[in-house]
Amino acid sequence: MDLATEVDAGFEPTPNNLEAFFMPFTANRAFKKRPRIVNRAEGVYYFKPDGTRVIDGSAGLWCCNAGHGRKPIVEAIQAQAAELDFAPVFQFGHPKAFQLASRIALLAPGSLDHVFFANSGSESIDTALKIALAHHRVKGEASRTRLIGRERGYHGVGFGGISVGGIVANRRMFGAMLPGVDHLPHTYDRSKQAFSRGEPDWGAHLADELERLVALHGADTIAAVVVEPMAGSTGVLPPPKGYLKRLREITAKHGILLIFDEVITGFGRLGAAFAAERFGVEPDMITFAKGVTSGTVPMGGVVVSKAIYDSFMQGPEHIIELFHGYTYSAHPLACAAGLATLDIYRDERLFERAAAIEGTFADKVFSLKDLPLVEDIRTIGLVGAIDLTPIPGSPGLRALNALERGFHEFDVMTRVTGDTIAISPPLTITDAEMDELVDKLRRLITAIS
Ligand code: PLP
Repeated sequence: MDLATEVDAGFEPTPNNLEAFFMPFTANRAFKKRPRIVNRAEGVYYFKPDGTRVIDGSAGLWCCNAGHGRKPIVEAIQAQAAELDFAPVFQFGHPKAFQLASRIALLAPGSLDHVFFANSGSESIDTALKIALAHHRVKGEASRTRLIGRERGYHGVGFGGISVGGIVANRRMFGAMLPGVDHLPHTYDRSKQAFSRGEPDWGAHLADELERLVALHGADTIAAVVVEPMAGSTGVLPPPKGYLKRLREITAKHGILLIFDEVITGFGRLGAAFAAERFGVEPDMITFAKGVTSGTVPMGGVVVSKAIYDSFMQGPEHIIELFHGYTYSAHPLACAAGLATLDIYRDERLFERAAAIEGTFADKVFSLKDLPLVEDIRTIGLVGAIDLTPIPGSPGLRALNALERGFHEFDVMTRVTGDTIAISPPLTITDAEMDELVDKLRRLITAIS
């Protein structure tokens, strides 16, 4: 149908016409039988088309850290669209790209001083992996091509990300993956860590598995290790105490780059600008996305160390140093949204706020421990996970029931993964809103028991 015919036919893409959208990471047929639609958002609430308020227990998709409908961000995007809708950043530039890069570099720890922009977490990860390979090559260590990820890691859906990621369902249908990838073991063992708040005591020794991989493959074949400081998408797995420091020591000893995927943990989720700061570990690269614009305009990127950036700045000055980039890298609307978002984080001290309310948040989430279905609870920063007893023979169905009934009957939005409910509310959440969220979860989990 062309546009004119579409108009003549009175075609209106309303929620009654759901077929055309092939929905990502969604059970399309089940969803379209009983859709979960929201059409407005404000503060920590979404609204259904009939006006019902739904508490946002997941900051959208772990991204709306400043809360929804923030006027300064909205106005910055509007003004930017009017002033400069698009500008190329291949061989040209626009002021806000440089401003935002400087602001992010200031927030990042230590010598992480340079920012490469992408448009999503997935692109950020693939960018970081490519920079790692290219860095070794420009340094004359072209044999370092192997990439090490971790079981239960999620690094988006590009071929690089699913290769280093540790989720078989995300790989199964897509062929051969990147060659030369290996994985560290994940760090979760319920028998040793159940109901830990923050970093569990057990598990730092699992970082030593990297020594085993180095012995197996040879350090001179390994380019980088990539981990989420706190694995989010596979059920919220805070790092064991001392684990990340140990990974840093081993990677540094062998000249291997360490990449933290902070797509979820960046911008205050763990009570600091980046988890690297919270855990006192400086990686060589940090990937970010989501919270950089509080989810308002797609944006991602990689903060790289001065040493990595400098390694590319050699040879004739007219030669492009890195053959990589996206048409929409540093898109003006995303940069405007990012700058306005960082202003809110700074002016409302939202990272400090997340740190200050972490204990209260944990108390409230842990109050669900007495419910019969609850097998484990984990919290860190403003993130919580509640593991539910699976329905025998149908893994994942219990939590899916929680997602569906939560939305339709209890007006609460959560993320679920496996049989885990994950919560990560906007950092602006008040005490009363936390109570509302946890009360709804209590009634929901009781109802699905
Ligand atoms: N890396 C991590 C740690 C994530 O949690 C995600 C998304 O949740 C991604 C990468 C992928 O981000 P995107 O969906 O923006 O591509």
